[in-house]
Order: sequence, then structure tokens, then C-alpha cells
Amino acid sequence: MKVIDFSKQRSIVNEFVAQLRDVELQKDRMRFRQNVVRIGHAMAYEVSKSLTYSQKFIETPLATATANTPDDDIVIATVFRAGLPLHQGFLDVFDRAGNAFVSAYRYYKDREGTEVGIKIEYMATPDLTDKTLILVDPMLATGGSMELAYEAFCTKGKPRRLIMACVIAAEQGVKYLKKFFPEDDVQLYCGAVDPVLNEHKYIVPGLGDAGDLMYGDKL
Ligand code: URA
Repeated sequence: MKVIDFSKQRSIVNEFVAQLRDVELQKDRMRFRQNVVRIGHAMAYEVSKSLTYSQKFIETPLATATANTPDDDIVIATVFRAGLPLHQGFLDVFDRAGNAFVSAYRYYKDREGTEVGIKIEYMATPDLTDKTLILVDPMLATGGSMELAYEAFCTKGKPRRLIMACVIAAEQGVKYLKKFFPEDDVQLYCGAVDPVLNEHKYIVPGLGDAGDLMYGDKL
């Protein structure tokens, strides 16, 4: 798996990530969601550079123009609920893309809240056979939900190519996914890679609970 880390590049994504992390700015839910959407736009543009293009002919009112446009059959997949704004960002750019969703939630297996389980329930997806699957999930902590979501989607056809995208990844999660996806043709786009996963499996420095910041507290 190849990691494309925007924090190592000169990219406006770094400004969006900084705003998401800021403990005061992140209280504005609409701005928080919109910054994640904007990261989706920027990442989708970078992903677009790696697609397969062919020349097309377009009739304008005056003559015929040519344009190289992508031929990949893209499906954008995400995990409810925190994945929705990043998904929307990608969908704003890849307007012909199919869409896939799973619901996954984290639960603590022990009273101390140190062992995390992930449960997948609802899934809706087109056939993924030979598709370019872009799996987006804003917070890559242990890597467990990305892996489980991918496995769940693969029961509906094996994609030709896998691209993953997240806003912030923990080093531990990146390491885990590298083992799970040893192939060079799998890519992980991330806004930053943070060093620590705390005992409750939150990324540090991270930004907190992305789903709650986007949509409010849950029970
Ligand atoms: N999910 C979040 O929302 N935040 C984290 O730090 C880890 C997982």
C-alpha cells in the first residue's frame, strides 16, 4: 500500500485539517462538515491524476472539440455516519460514480473502554466487479473498520483497484493496513498521519470524535 500524506506536501488540505483540529473552530458544525467536504474535493482531484483517460469527441455549437476524460468505473464507498461529508466531497468531483454504504459502529468490549469492537450492519452497494473502489472514512484509527468495510463490500464483487482516503490516520492504523494490503497498487490518501492511538482508540493529537463534531452527540 502506498501512502499519499498531504501533510508532507504544499497543499491547501493542510489549512482545512488545521481548522478541523482547532478546538474552538471545530465547534461550528457546519464549518467542520464543509472542511471535510473540501478535503474530499482536493483528494478527489489528486486521485483523478491516477485514473485511465481516453480521448473523446464533443460537439460544441461551432465544431468538434476533443477532451481526455477518465474511463474508470468508479464506486465511492463509505461508512455511516462520519463518512458522509468526505463521501460527498468525492461525489461532487466524480459525478458519474456509483455509491456504496455500510453502517459500522465501534463499541467497547470491556468496562475500562480499552478494547474496541466494530459491528457492521446495513450495507447497500452496486456490483463491485472490476470497479475502481474509492473507500473513504475520515478517521483511520486501528484500521479495523476500513478492513471490515472492504471485506463486506468484496462479498458483492472484487474491485479492479482500491483507493482509500481519510482525513487523519494513526500510524498504527497505517501499519495495520500496510500488512493487510501489501500490494503496491493500493493507495491510501490522508490529510495527516498522527503518532498516537490512546487507550480508548482515539487518535492523538487527532481532532476528537469526527461523527459527533459533524452531527452532534449520540447516546
Ligand atoms: N474516530 C474518531 O472520530 N476519532 C478518532 O480519534 C478515532 C476514531
